[in-house]
Amino acid sequence: MPELPEVETIVRRLRLNLIGQKIKAVQVLYPGILRCSQQVFVQSLAGNIIREIRRKGKFILFELTSGRTLILHLKMTGQVLIESPSVPADRHTHVIFSFFSSDFQMRYRDIRKFGFFALGQGDSPTLNPYLSRLGPDPFEITSHQFVKIILPGKRAVKSLLLDQSLISGLGNIYVDESLFQAKIHPLTRADSLSPVRIKSLHRIIKKLLDRAVSWQGSTLRDYRRPDGISGGFQNYHQVYGRTGTPCPFCHTPIEKIRVAGRGTHFCPGCQKVEKSDRN
Ligand SMILES: [Zn+2]
Repeated sequence: MPELPEVETIVRRLRLNLIGQKIKAVQVLYPGILRCSQQVFVQSLAGNIIREIRRKGKFILFELTSGRTLILHLKMTGQVLIESPSVPADRHTHVIFSFFSSDFQMRYRDIRKFGFFALGQGDSPTLNPYLSRLGPDPFEITSHQFVKIILPGKRAVKSLLLDQSLISGLGNIYVDESLFQAKIHPLTRADSLSPVRIKSLHRIIKKLLDRAVSWQGSTLRDYRRPDGISGGFQNYHQVYGRTGTPCPFCHTPIEKIRVAGRGTHFCPGCQKVEKSDRN
């Protein structure tokens, strides 16, 4: 699933092509991808100019001149591609946006079809129901605020970091990688960590996400930039997808367990389950 670095990369690329473009037509090939009626969707978008494109957690928001916001979540396998109309759309392409003054289209492609488009209004969370339960992303808060969110957690720290209503933007890859760098076992209960270690985890998460954005994300299977190019950060993963290979620090083989229903990679040598950091 695309996480913060992948979605941020997509948003930055889309801005280059789409800001100021006027939507000419919207062709829906698979209406199941919409969270509203196809008629309302098409009529609400056609004729609008795209004023701004933003990321909120793992959501992509297109702000339109009508005051409406087009909301997109890519879920597992969603891709946003900028392609020439002369390139045939394949059977996994579900929505095609064309513009007045251009020779390209924005196409939404999704093999598993878990992604979705919705319509919202302006910036207010109450008018954007999909965003109303979304926590801040790691860049939107101070270390002190991050501690206040994580410290009281009575669950495994990995499970808290994946919870989008607490902290948004993180998914399986970047949680496993940051817990490895912080030397925290993914099953450690958050309320057993000291505030100092949680602050350090916040710094590690932001640094890791920054690096991943500079490599334009991680491509393991489906993620592509809108121009079809893969990201590069997968070459720098230290534990994710590396089960059985030696830890880069202590050479213990990386193990895979299940935490919060998700495949979780960690080094048993560097990341020990701790009883409590406090007292
Ligand atoms: Zn290790």
